[in-house]
Amino acid sequence: MSTEAGAPRFRIAPSPTGSIHVGTARTALYNWLLARKSGGTFVLRVEDTARDRNRPEWEQAIYNGLSWLGLDWDEGPDVGGQYGPYRQSERLKQHRRHLQRLFERGHVYRCFCSREQLAEERKAAQRAKLPPRYSGRCRNLSEAEVKSRLEAGEQASYRFKVAAREVEFDDLVLGGLREDAGLWGDFIVARSDGSPVYNFAVVADDHDMAITHVLRGADHISNTFKQVVMYEALGWECPRFGHIPLTLNAKRQKLSKRDGSVSIQEYRDQGYLPEAVNNFIALLGWNPGDEREFFSLEELVSAFSAERINRANAIFDQERLDWFNGNYVRDLPIAELSRLAWDYLEGCGYFAGSNGAAARLEGIEPVERPAREYFEASLALEQERIRRLSDLPGVISFFFRDKVEPDLKFLVARRQTPQATAAALAQVADWSDRNDVADQALTEGYLRGLAEELGWKAGILFMPIRMAITGSRATPPLFATMAVLGSERVSSRLRAAVKLLEE
Ligand code: GLU
Repeated sequence: MSTEAGAPRFRIAPSPTGSIHVGTARTALYNWLLARKSGGTFVLRVEDTARDRNRPEWEQAIYNGLSWLGLDWDEGPDVGGQYGPYRQSERLKQHRRHLQRLFERGHVYRCFCSREQLAEERKAAQRAKLPPRYSGRCRNLSEAEVKSRLEAGEQASYRFKVAAREVEFDDLVLGGLREDAGLWGDFIVARSDGSPVYNFAVVADDHDMAITHVLRGADHISNTFKQVVMYEALGWECPRFGHIPLTLNAKRQKLSKRDGSVSIQEYRDQGYLPEAVNNFIALLGWNPGDEREFFSLEELVSAFSAERINRANAIFDQERLDWFNGNYVRDLPIAELSRLAWDYLEGCGYFAGSNGAAARLEGIEPVERPAREYFEASLALEQERIRRLSDLPGVISFFFRDKVEPDLKFLVARRQTPQATAAALAQVADWSDRNDVADQALTEGYLRGLAEELGWKAGILFMPIRMAITGSRATPPLFATMAVLGSERVSSRLRAAVKLLEE
């Protein structure tokens, strides 16, 4: 990445049309990494010109999503900078000035064609099996005619005069790309009120913001060719362009909501860790050239390069994201996981009386707010077993509920009668009253001894105990679970089970 003419300037230009899509997050990450690696600048420009589809809360969603991922921006609508304003809608004055420049240089003309005329042209082209292309009807109108039609109040958009020739640029990722501009037809750069369309606004803004590198999704390649000719027409130097392959679903279609969660907000809501999401999306379209899989953001800054961005499209694999997340969850120091998990569950309305969005944990009853220490001890036993924080309520709630609901089928010891099982559980309850189950070795010694006394295999005794105190067959190791629950809970749950067996 050249830094000769000053440090490079990267940008992302998301439209605030919803929560950040995983593809946008990836574009942001790649640009951010290259900016940080080169000592350059990372600019956030909000392309809010599609007024009807933009909402202020979605601009906030962009900030929230990027902040959550830990991708900070040096310039942007909220932090300012010397190239502002950073909202596209606030740059109309600049856009009009540049439009005037194009006009004066003879690169655009006024086009009076109505929507109906254009639709008719497109249909005719379709019928003739030709690419839909503007006929050029208004290209050579005389100055006098344009003037009089405008004076008569006719609406006229601004069209760019395309010269039939090969357009090329050297893509940072894909290498040399070329396209025959003869296929395009003259395209619109601004509406009759002088407001620019995307392709023109982006050129004006990138130029005015001194952007040196434009790295974006491969769905923009066809736009880039048009932008290149506009740069040339304006007499401006092109930035370096790079196109990141698309993210597809397993069926190789464009990733959409139907494929599950595709927005950063959803990942956050489901209890993914930003470190895992960054790691996952970094490798979604880039490879380090070796076998490494785990990268912190700092490690990515040094390992990342545009040259190693894959040329092939990436396949989104939720399973892999979950796997990454599980690894990150396991590697967290328990105190940190405890803080994250507590805040997460609090935000979900998991603790009775908290005012989080309970709807996020559908089907899960809130629990009484546990003591922090007890929460952390319970969490420590489940750390290995979860992949996302949203998995927690399903596995950890039994620690916090007053009662558990054992499954009778597994509450009766295998090949034993309910009565015999009840007697054994009652015995364990009595023992637990008199002893401290926090001592796991003590518990283990006692229970193994009891099994022997009863002439049962240890596992035969352990299952009903496990079911009685947790309400589940799959739990963390039994003695550790008992130790965390404590003697009082263990005894009372065992007695409740005894009652159940006796009924
Ligand atoms: N607003 C465009 C988008 O969200 C920006 C594309 C670009 O980076 O130029 O796709």
